Amino acid sequence: MPSSARGRVWHSIRIRSPVMMTGESRVRGTIRLKLETGLLPWSESGRVWAGPGANEVCSACDDTITTRQKLHEWEHDGSKIVMHLRCYELWTDERQQGQRQDGPTSG
Ligand SMILES: [Zn+2]
Repeated sequence: MPSSARGRVWHSIRIRSPVMMTGESRVRGTIRLKLETGLLPWSESGRVWAGPGANEVCSACDDTITTRQKLHEWEHDGSKIVMHLRCYELWTDERQQGQRQDGPTSG
């Protein structure tokens, strides 16, 4: 039986962050996940209002929409959805791609 634990090796687990990944593909992944989990709607409803941000949290990328950025805002099922203009475009794109492959479970 070994009496001492000499030469022990500690591995620090390092999670490789995808540094090279562009912000757009990161946001796309987040949007796709939210679509699949129902956190984001598959369809637009009502009138979409576009304007400057007011330090609100983007429904798509979870980042703050600063007053220097543009946002899209609308109501869905009684709750307000706010997105960066950029995220809105990505969301629209992801919806079209997602629906073509595998539509949302309606019912
Ligand atoms: Zn965003």
